[in-house]
Amino acid sequence: MANTPISFEFFPPQTPEGSDKLTDVRKRLAVLKPEFFSCTFGAGGTTQDRTLDTIKLIHAEGHQAAPHLSCVGSTRENIRALLFAYKEMGIRRIVALRGDMPSGMGSIGEFHYANELVSFIRAQTGAHFHIEVAAYPEFHPQANSAREDMLNFKHKISAGANSAITQYFYNADGYFRFVDETRKLGVTAPIVPGIMPIVRYSQLARFSDTCGAEIPRWMRKTMEGFGDDVESVQAFGRDVVTALCEKLIAGGAPGLHFYTLNQADASLEILKRLGYRGR
Ligand code: FAD
Repeated sequence: MANTPISFEFFPPQTPEGSDKLTDVRKRLAVLKPEFFSCTFGAGGTTQDRTLDTIKLIHAEGHQAAPHLSCVGSTRENIRALLFAYKEMGIRRIVALRGDMPSGMGSIGEFHYANELVSFIRAQTGAHFHIEVAAYPEFHPQANSAREDMLNFKHKISAGANSAITQYFYNADGYFRFVDETRKLGVTAPIVPGIMPIVRYSQLARFSDTCGAEIPRWMRKTMEGFGDDVESVQAFGRDVVTALCEKLIAGGAPGLHFYTLNQADASLEILKRLGYRGR
């Protein structure tokens, strides 16, 4: 079970203290020999420098670093400059996204959807980067229909993406169905489940409402019942998410990508239960 490849996602810290803390988090997670560490990118370039700085640090530590790159609100020139900066640094993997325009921010820019970004990366840098894209087993909140969303997902792969990471979910059946249905459409690229450990219920509920990831009713009711008892929420979360990962691995998931929220404990505990040890 502990042979399934793993990876970890961070957001770029805002302060020097946050950056030091994240360096420590990385040290603890690196013991499990992840395939890569990725770092998110604010749409419209809002975290551009901090993402770049975090990626430089990860790369300098000798780990494979995967910057996220969201295209909405950007220009071709800006994206091209970033791509070549990453290429020169020796970065080989990029997570290519559309992103969401922050409210009140100006024009949508020169890209409308992630498939255009994938095509642009291939046109500019050929086969240099391994390109990851996002997938939504419970479908993207703006999708017109499940089928259209899957076809749009297929377009991103056909544009040159190598593999995908999913939005988090707590229902394994939805993931397996999404994989089956997209295979029927001809997608052969690996689709790695995104795993969100549960640290705080209120934060998770807020996230889930905006990104369209469903927290099943039985989970919501159980966690609501714990009220302010954070310990019980976390213990429940560890059980549920470990069982989810076991089911995903047993069903053939090609990897596990952890949304760490810049914390090590929850991911480490789940992975320990799955049999991952320092290598
Ligand atoms: P797209 O693939 O472009 O899809 C967006 C919507 O448009 C979907 O509903 C799709 O069906 C539809 N669509 C796609 N193509 C077309 C078309 N040609 N015509 C009509 N409709 C179309 N956000 C960030 O800002 N920064 C990050 O670092 C970040 N990292 C993420 C990492 C992962 C693994 C995931 C799953 C999400 C991440 N996000 C990030 C969130 C993501 O940017 C949002 O979910 C965004 O709303 C959609 O991005 P996308 O790349 O999936 O878009």
